[in-house]
Amino acid sequence: MEKLKLSDYFSEVYEDGEYPRFKVFIDGKWVKTSEKFDLISSVDESKIAEIGSVNKKDLDLAIKSANENKHKIRDMAAIDRLELVNKIRQEIENHREEIVNVLMKEAGKAYNSANGEITATIERLRLSMEDSRKIMGEYIPGDWSSDTTRKIALVIREPLGVVLGISPFNYPVYTSIAKILPALLSGNSVIIKPPSSDPISLLMCAEIFRKVGVPAGTIQVITGSGSVAGDYLIENNGINMVSFTGSTTVGKHIAQVAGLKKIHLELGGKGTAIILDDADLDLAAKECVKGSLELAGQRCDAISRILIVNSIADRFYEKIREHLKDYKFGNPLNNGVNIGPVINEKAAERIDSMVQDAIKKGAKIITGGKYKNSYYEPTVLEDVSLESAIATEETFGPVITMIRVKDEEEAIAVANKSNYGLDSAVFTNDFYRVWRIVKALQVGNVTLNGAPSHGTAYFPFGGVKDSGAGKEGVGYSIEEMTNIKTIIFNLGAKDLGKPYSGLFKD
Ligand code: NAP
Ligand code: MG
Repeated sequence: MEKLKLSDYFSEVYEDGEYPRFKVFIDGKWVKTSEKFDLISSVDESKIAEIGSVNKKDLDLAIKSANENKHKIRDMAAIDRLELVNKIRQEIENHREEIVNVLMKEAGKAYNSANGEITATIERLRLSMEDSRKIMGEYIPGDWSSDTTRKIALVIREPLGVVLGISPFNYPVYTSIAKILPALLSGNSVIIKPPSSDPISLLMCAEIFRKVGVPAGTIQVITGSGSVAGDYLIENNGINMVSFTGSTTVGKHIAQVAGLKKIHLELGGKGTAIILDDADLDLAAKECVKGSLELAGQRCDAISRILIVNSIADRFYEKIREHLKDYKFGNPLNNGVNIGPVINEKAAERIDSMVQDAIKKGAKIITGGKYKNSYYEPTVLEDVSLESAIATEETFGPVITMIRVKDEEEAIAVANKSNYGLDSAVFTNDFYRVWRIVKALQVGNVTLNGAPSHGTAYFPFGGVKDSGAGKEGVGYSIEEMTNIKTIIFNLGAKDLGKPYSGLFKD
């Protein structure tokens, strides 16, 4: 692929040369780092850019600037913060085509997926403007308890200080902005580290923040290896909270390093669909193909295994094959293609080892099971054994993994037999079964008669078990990024405005 070229609007973000050499955004300025690494496109594994790699000095400067400037956002009138968000939203919309184009090239996303990510980002910005009004608190009269009859309390929400956000490769723009936004709206400054595989689209957004007038030093965008920058930042006392979206392995490591810092972890999943015998099989198959294959299966809320009650399994398998025809696999830059490559060849190798293991343990392969570079063919596996790794471990690839179960009870037992507890779907039209299953599943989210899809996180989203801690969602993220302070007023009867009450004898 030819090297990346951006429009004049983004000219400060990089230095042109043999390859565009991207900078990092520290202390309100674009800074060229001394170290760099190559950005390899998932589309054809060619080098398309060079990305800055921060060192400890850069990180110290980012932490210092975030702390020294946090008052600028904390003290800004909320209505002015809202206006900034509004401008960011408009500018992202104005530059949508260019950002989508870069996202397709760096991440190998098909047009629909890349455009969908930016649509979700813009919608999230709009919804957050409404929800930011919930940053209020409450008034609690004390005379409901004999202990506090003469007291009242005000409970207020305050910003934490500096929030560190770390985001994953599958939604580099959306997940980053879903951290930046609630942080800023609730008065925190932010340091954000986008994924190394596809950070450019977020760097472009940082330029939008700068141009619309987000105060210098309240957002820092740094790039470089997560394992190097991560530990240094997470341990640092200048960081008050870590909001992380990514793999369970890294999430567990962060929990160890962070000590008593507030952390919010959105981690891996093993999205499970349960198909019962009374389900609308056509709908179930259509949704399951979509849920398994969209974004080549690289979604934390992907349907990663399908449990089908034995009596309808053969009919369901057939329906899956029919709906597979709606998907076209290939180069994501070509028209009509809706499944592109996975992020890199290493990911394809990992997916393949899971598929081959399943086949060895008795699964029937209907289609797929091969890859070239980062292109893993959409794959259908029937009758997958519970002994296979793919039955319980996160796939993160375009594989439709189908497992037969005896009945509803066995479906629940198998669904809960995973360390993950993020997402699930149940296909049935029987209310009583729905309720029994929903109550029994050890997950954070259940979708009925549809594939899980959390677009703008208008509904709260988050996992249990190894899938994380904390809730993501328009208003919920704001709660995660504020502290509650309780202010207690000790008053006399008169001061309470209840001079005639028998309760209040001075
Ligand atoms: P990852 O390998 O865990 O990386 C995520 C981010 O963490 C990247 O920015 C990475 O930087 C950084 N990182 C790596 N090691 C680190 C360390 N020791 N300390 C601090 N940061 C570190 O995950 P991924 O492969 O990008 O993303 C896929 C995973 O994310 C899947 O498991 C998926 O389920 C999960 N995910 C979860 C949700 C959710 O809402 N629950 C949403 C999306 C994705 P580098 O890129 O530089 O390595
Ligand atoms: Mg990774």
